[in-house]
Amino acid sequence: MDDLIKKAAADLAAARYVVALTGAGISTESGIPPFRGKGGLWERFDPMEIAHIDAFMRDPAKVWNLLVKEMKKIVDSALPNDGHKGLVKLEEMGKLKTVITQNIDGLHQAAGNTDVIEFHGNFAWQRCMDCMRKYETSKVDVSVIPPRCDCGGILRPDAVFFGEMIPTDAMWRSRQAASACDLMLVVGTSAIVQPACLMPVYAKQSGAKVVEINPERTPLTGKFSDYLIMGKAGDVMNRIVAAMDKNEG
Ligand SMILES: [Zn+2]
Repeated sequence: MDDLIKKAAADLAAARYVVALTGAGISTESGIPPFRGKGGLWERFDPMEIAHIDAFMRDPAKVWNLLVKEMKKIVDSALPNDGHKGLVKLEEMGKLKTVITQNIDGLHQAAGNTDVIEFHGNFAWQRCMDCMRKYETSKVDVSVIPPRCDCGGILRPDAVFFGEMIPTDAMWRSRQAASACDLMLVVGTSAIVQPACLMPVYAKQSGAKVVEINPERTPLTGKFSDYLIMGKAGDVMNRIVAAMDKNEG
């Protein structure tokens, strides 16, 4: 593992245009449970019942009560962890240009990354279904459900529900970034869901190195990623950044 940390530090030092692709694994250390897998929200709820746009349109109050309020509680109190902070350091070093994320928690922006592409929108904001005005989720009053805009319209998360399209500008920009980078860091995602799974492929096809930081092997491992550093995002990022500082000093 130490050798791979050194290798990643050297590869990052040599890279000029780094793009990071992140998923749920980078946010678990901030107390945000993944939707899928053990301990995930979908163990307790059927996503098609409460996270599908049709369910929301049918009964917004029900979806607010069962899902949105609970997520608001989790996201309102979550803070960026060392994984997010490591990506900010890479941006400050002039290496990292863009973060492409499947997460909706807004923690990359909270940490300080400036160019974040969100495939699934952002839960840190709610928007009015009538006039599109946006409200910060943490400031939305949930004493009356569903919460409403000043205009009377119902508020909904500014995130993508099941049954909704990935925003086209996010698709387009991420594809461009993936093709332009010379190193892609894949952090905390097995990248098995569309369109995230395509980004390492675009990067690889364009000649970029693809470096994975994940707790276990994924479908990318040995196929599209050059190597896998096994571990938790925060710990691995800390060690890579420390190795880069040491090389520079
Ligand atoms: Zn409104």
